Amino acid sequence: MRERCPTGLEERLLTAYLDGELTQGGMQKVEVHVEACAHCRSLLEDLSRIREATMNTSFATPPDNQWNELPRTPASGTFRRLGWWLVIPWLVLVIAWGLWEAWKGSAGVLERVLVFGGIGGVVLLFLSVLLDRLRDAATDRYREVNR
Ligand SMILES: [Zn+2]
Repeated sequence: MRERCPTGLEERLLTAYLDGELTQGGMQKVEVHVEACAHCRSLLEDLSRIREATMNTSFATPPDNQWNELPRTPASGTFRRLGWWLVIPWLVLVIAWGLWEAWKGSAGVLERVLVFGGIGGVVLLFLSVLLDRLRDAATDRYREVNR
């Protein structure tokens, strides 16, 4: 448990101060108190650092549109399709080979369940994303033809 302020200022006043929810008078009261009280000064610093960190992580998520970008020319469209036709069988082969090697190499039943449960889950997730992407790509092409 964190120590309480020696003069009894409530922590929720500091949070409200950071959120900008206080009146002019309330803000001044907190500022004056923080000047005088080392406990609340460091608490306020901690709170604002935590706030900054959570703000940064929530804004750091990249936009989800890299895959949906349409090819600009017929040539790049052909390359894109060829790329998919090469990448998908390659990926399937690599995964199948990796699973086969892991199956041969793993010792006990428990180990197999642990490893293949995780890999199976990841593969299923990947496949579901891939199917969605392919469907999106198909509807995009359809939309472009209809335009
Ligand atoms: Zn204090």
